[in-house]
Parts: sequence; C-alpha cells; structure tokens
Amino acid sequence: MNQQKIALVTGGTGGIGTAICIALADQGRKVIAGYFPPEKEIADAWQRKHRDNGYEFEIVACDVSDFESSQQMLHDVVETIGSVDILVNCAGITRDKTLRRMTPQQWDSVLRTNLDSAFNVTRHVVDSMSENGFGRIVNISSVNGQKGQFGQANYSAAKAGLHGFTKAVAQELAAKGITVNSVSPGYVKTEMTDAIPEEVRDSIIQQVPMGRMASPAEIAYVVSFLTDDRNTYMTGANLPVNGGMYMT
Ligand code: NDP
Repeated sequence: MNQQKIALVTGGTGGIGTAICIALADQGRKVIAGYFPPEKEIADAWQRKHRDNGYEFEIVACDVSDFESSQQMLHDVVETIGSVDILVNCAGITRDKTLRRMTPQQWDSVLRTNLDSAFNVTRHVVDSMSENGFGRIVNISSVNGQKGQFGQANYSAAKAGLHGFTKAVAQELAAKGITVNSVSPGYVKTEMTDAIPEEVRDSIIQQVPMGRMASPAEIAYVVSFLTDDRNTYMTGANLPVNGGMYMT
C-alpha cells in the first residue's frame, strides 16, 4: 500500500510554517495547515493564494494552547481527511520582557503556546500512528532554547522544554516506527523577527558567522529531511539550523 501520507503543520500559515507546508507538499504529502481561530479570513486568503500557485492545502482552526481545542481539531481532521502520519509542531509566540518585568500572563501564554501545545496536539496523534506503525513528529524549538536569551526567560524555558519532551516521547514511541525529533532554528526572516527593533536585529546578525538570517525554506528543508520515509533511524535528535551561531 502506497497511500499519500497526511501531514499536519501547526502554525502552518505563519512564516516558517508556510515554508514547511510547501516543502512537505513537494515531498508528496497531503498537507493540513493549522491556524489560530481568530485569523480565519487570513487563513482563507492564504489558502487561496497557495491554491493559485498549485498547492492544495487544507486548513484547520485550532488554538494549540488549549487541550480541548486540539482534541476537537484532530477529531475533525480524522473524520474529514484521515489520520495524521506526520506532525510538525510549529505554532509559537514571543512575549519578551526581562524577568524583573515579566508578568505571569506573559510567562503563561508563552509556555502554553510553545510547550503545552506540543503535548496538546501530539497526545492526539500517537495512538493512530502507533496502530499504523509509522509516524514522524518534528517539534520546532529554537537556538534560544539551547543557549538562553536575554529578555526571553519564558521563550527559552518553553523551547528548552521541547527538547526534553522530544527525547522522552522519542523513547516511548521508538518501537512503534515513530520518530520524534526537534529542529532549533537560529534567527529566521519572518514576521516574528521583523518585530524585533532594527538595531537589535542588526546586533543579532553580527553574532551569526554566516552574517545573515535564515530563510524559512532553509528550516523547512531540514524538517522535510526528518519526515522523509527513508529517515527511519534518527530519533530524539535536535538539529540546529542556525548559521553557526551556536554549536554544541
Ligand atoms: P510566525 O509568527 O510567522 O508563525 C507562528 C504561527 O503560530 C502563526 O501562524 C500564529 O498564528 C500561530 N499561532 C500562534 N499562537 C497560536 C495558537 N495559540 N494556536 C494556533 N496557532 C498559533 O512565526 P515564525 O514562522 O517565525 O515561527 C514559527 C516557529 O518557529 C515558532 O515556534 C517559533 O518560536 C520558531 N522559531 C522562529 C524563529 C525565527 O527567527 N522566526 C527562530 C527560532 C524558532 P497567528 O499569526 O494567527 O498568531
């Protein structure tokens, strides 16, 4: 049986998410992009734009910071499209403040969206992946989860948490034909980094040996490598894609 595999990308309509959707579609997958529910009009326009370019993406609304919303979304996906073979947990936010100024709300929203989300969504795909004896799960972490970052105690903690989550779940699912890995991008040119003040951005770029930010496609390529059917023995790994900014 050589059925087209189904890939779900949370934050799929975002900067890196869009590039991942394209890379996975180019790999022959049926791609579903998750979007934040209040952004329906933007997601519809995104879907139309890509359809015009020859990409037939499905879109599904889901607040990944919420367990029930994630459960409902996965239930609907299975009913209408089929069970998910490939999951990319890509949705994320930043709410930067130094610890002395950070509010509990800023801490909470970043932890819920960037870390709880991996549990909320992954929890609902592992049973069917286990039954099918195939699964690819990729968690999009960050270089700042590896090295920490001034003003990002919440984000660095959440992204570091994703590394632990990845390694634990990789062990649990290894015998089921499911690989679980993380990708830790350095700075990537998207709306998220466009929001960084220009002088801060310039100083960050100076710390990158390659002297530039990544394009979203450079991150997406590594995700498609991890999700490839032939990539069967790599699990629990973290792949840094950071232009040489941080080497471990
Ligand atoms: P974007 O802001 O472009 O994309 C993030 C996506 O996540 C958006 O589509 C956003 O939707 C969605 N999202 C946010 N909150 C929720 C939620 N509660 N439920 C569902 N979807 C949600 O950022 P990037 O593409 O740059 O980031 C993608 C991932 O890569 C993130 O996890 C980020 O932390 C990580 N990353 C990014 C780096 C960079 O330099 N850009 C570097 C390292 C890691 P909406 O727009 O509607 O809010």
